[in-house]
Amino acid sequence: MEKPTLAIIIPCYNEELCVKSTVDKLFIVLQDLINKNKIKPNSYIYLIDDGSKDNTWNIISEMHRVNPLVKGQKFIRNFGNQKALIAGLEGVREIGCDCVISIDADLQQDEWAIEKFIDKYLEGYDIVSGIRNDRKTDSLFKKLTAWLFYKTMNILGAKIPMNHSDYRLVSKRGLNILSDYGEKYLFLRGFFNEVGLKNAFVKFDVKPRMAGESKFNFVSLMGLALNGITSYSIVPLRFITLLGFFMALFGFFVGAEAVYEKIFHNDAPNGMVTTIILLCVFGGIQLFCLGIIGEYVGQVFREVKARPRYIKEIELK
Ligand code: UDP
Ligand code: MG
Repeated sequence: MEKPTLAIIIPCYNEELCVKSTVDKLFIVLQDLINKNKIKPNSYIYLIDDGSKDNTWNIISEMHRVNPLVKGQKFIRNFGNQKALIAGLEGVREIGCDCVISIDADLQQDEWAIEKFIDKYLEGYDIVSGIRNDRKTDSLFKKLTAWLFYKTMNILGAKIPMNHSDYRLVSKRGLNILSDYGEKYLFLRGFFNEVGLKNAFVKFDVKPRMAGESKFNFVSLMGLALNGITSYSIVPLRFITLLGFFMALFGFFVGAEAVYEKIFHNDAPNGMVTTIILLCVFGGIQLFCLGIIGEYVGQVFREVKARPRYIKEIELK
């Protein structure tokens, strides 16, 4: 494999406290890789401002003015981290690069692991996924929900590696395949594990956020998880069918039993409580299942409208 032009993409949402020092640190890593003759000197950094309300974009434009190897674009409003990542992948594909690595603006992922990603690329891998060594920096709640999410995804058949974040290398080939996917709410972690490209893994350490605060809350993480599930698996829908079948079967036998009791023992089962409990249980299960179906309907609804994934306000390249 020939040494690549590397692009690093960074989604930024209100990251005025981090973005400058992150870019500086990444250039040190890039310079080191250039000195080691592992990447080409025209490698660059591409920042996606996801509609920040603070000074982030001014800082990015200023860095671009001083050094044109800092490039980027700004969204017209906040579209979310997945859209920002997709915009980055599309942006660098247009500008040109041989491979691209995505990393967070707070640089929680160890930037010195980039060399390992490049080594894997040079061995011929198209996708290199970063796997967190541990979740020391996460709250117990986040650890638990993350674990639940990856387990659910794997049970449902979408083989996402445990503790894979969006720290990932994608080759030009991967980018070209991505451009054929029209899915608007693409779930990147699922996508890159599904297409069938050669996938390698790199372990990295996680640091605490250096400044500012996490841009995710419970609701947005839930949204991400639900999108991941509904876009990569229809097992929940099949499960509902099965559940309905067995519940009907159960109802049939209970009904038969009641008729039998009435005819042969003249003993009608009485019990308001049983009725109320069964009503609540079955009512609850039905609403829950309706909710699951609703998630898929929602997915179809969003996709069928085919709105643009994001709207670019300005680009610096
Ligand atoms: N981010 C974004 N748009 C959003 C939320 C987050 O582009 O709506 C970016 C954010 O600037 C950061 C990355 O996504 O570069 C990860 O966010 P954060 O560090 O807040 O998440 P956490 O590490 O807490 O999961
Ligand atoms: Mg972070």
